[in-house]
Amino acid sequence: MCGIFGAYSFSGEDVVKKIYYGLYALQHRGQEGAGIAVSNGGSIYSYKGLGLVSEVFSKKVINSLRGQLGIGHVRYSTTGGTLLENCQPFIVNSSLGNLAVAHNGDILNSHILRKELEKQGHIFTSSTDSEVIAHLLVKELLRTGDIIQSIEEVSKRIIGAYSLVILYNNSLIAVRDPLGFKPLCIGRDERDNYYISSESCGLDVINGELIRDVYPGEVIVINRDGIETYRIGEEASKVSTCMFEYVYFARPDSIIDGICVYNVRRKLGEILAREEPCEGDIVSPVPDSGVISAIGYSEELGIPYYEALVKNKYVGRTFILPSQEERDIAVRLKLNPVKPVIEGKRVILIDDSIVRGTTSKRIVDIVRKAGAREVHLRVSSPRIISPCYYGIDMPTKEELIASSKSLEEIRRYLNVDSLGYLSIQGLTEGIGREDLCLACVTGEYPTDISCKFCCR
Ligand code: SF4
Repeated sequence: MCGIFGAYSFSGEDVVKKIYYGLYALQHRGQEGAGIAVSNGGSIYSYKGLGLVSEVFSKKVINSLRGQLGIGHVRYSTTGGTLLENCQPFIVNSSLGNLAVAHNGDILNSHILRKELEKQGHIFTSSTDSEVIAHLLVKELLRTGDIIQSIEEVSKRIIGAYSLVILYNNSLIAVRDPLGFKPLCIGRDERDNYYISSESCGLDVINGELIRDVYPGEVIVINRDGIETYRIGEEASKVSTCMFEYVYFARPDSIIDGICVYNVRRKLGEILAREEPCEGDIVSPVPDSGVISAIGYSEELGIPYYEALVKNKYVGRTFILPSQEERDIAVRLKLNPVKPVIEGKRVILIDDSIVRGTTSKRIVDIVRKAGAREVHLRVSSPRIISPCYYGIDMPTKEELIASSKSLEEIRRYLNVDSLGYLSIQGLTEGIGREDLCLACVTGEYPTDISCKFCCR
């Protein structure tokens, strides 16, 4: 995951608060850390910290930063632990100027490239793949002296997913990898400020208008000379946008590559109802991610929609609880059943995905204990059988319940009366595009993945 945001003001306005609010709107993409880097005529100033945007940036910090262009990042760790030094943006200084980078995605061969760079004298301050990109860019800049050529050269060397925002020599630069794994869009406001955001919801919050998505393989450079776009990678690259952005990760009010995420989720629920119908008294989502698909499912079958489980949104991390009783309390703290809605009913639960299966099992248990006569589970995505190597934190293949268990075995493990998943065809139909990464549900990866495991 991770969220990135960039802002450039042609009118010379200070953009720090715009970045701050943009990151606030992208908070769902990462809660472990946040950072902002701004430039005001050459030097780059930054501030970053662990925690939520609201925790990292006090009013004093925001008021202390000034710049007419800048970038920001909210972090969710896949490569590198939850440490301050792993927070972004990364700043690398060179004789050709300073460069700041914020990255969303995952680079499969970063460990190999890092070893190479270390041998050449590059010193790293973090354990992330994003810093490898920053160092590679500086290395190429020193060789070519040209930022676009450097981005092109780096893109030839890195394998994986990368949407980037870069600050370099008073330019704001946006890059989306040639396969377009992660979303990235460009917008503007009426005061001639331009923005780059992981999702369009980041533009909405600052009253910006979505211009369009950054195309896969596109580099957009914004500076005082105007806006230029360039192309990196092969024209013929097969675009592979992450399907899970539509199913779960992105905010439902975002539009990704011209497609409204809310409409997709609703349609996935409708298709799921046609593919995996069920007799029941109520349809209920597993909050919050199952809500929109559950509405679609309920309307398609004409079964009433109820929110039978209530999520406590204010629960932070729970302690590691030693006794079963305390573990049960922790689960109920997060999710509580509405007993009168559930008692004696045949409940059809809708969830967006099942990863390990442990959470689903606990939720089913809660619904049963609340008095459900039957519990049926429907899932608005196909079975996850392979891990993601492109920036989504997933367990190993062995830990994915659907990688080794049959449908019936999963049903018995979850203790549900029936279980049904959306088909892969239903998924692509619901999203309305074929050029998707489906690796975690098919096991067919759109890039070489062998480099992930070599030279470890
Ligand atoms: S493997 Fe799955 S989660 Fe990862 S990018 Fe592809 S579709 Fe998204």
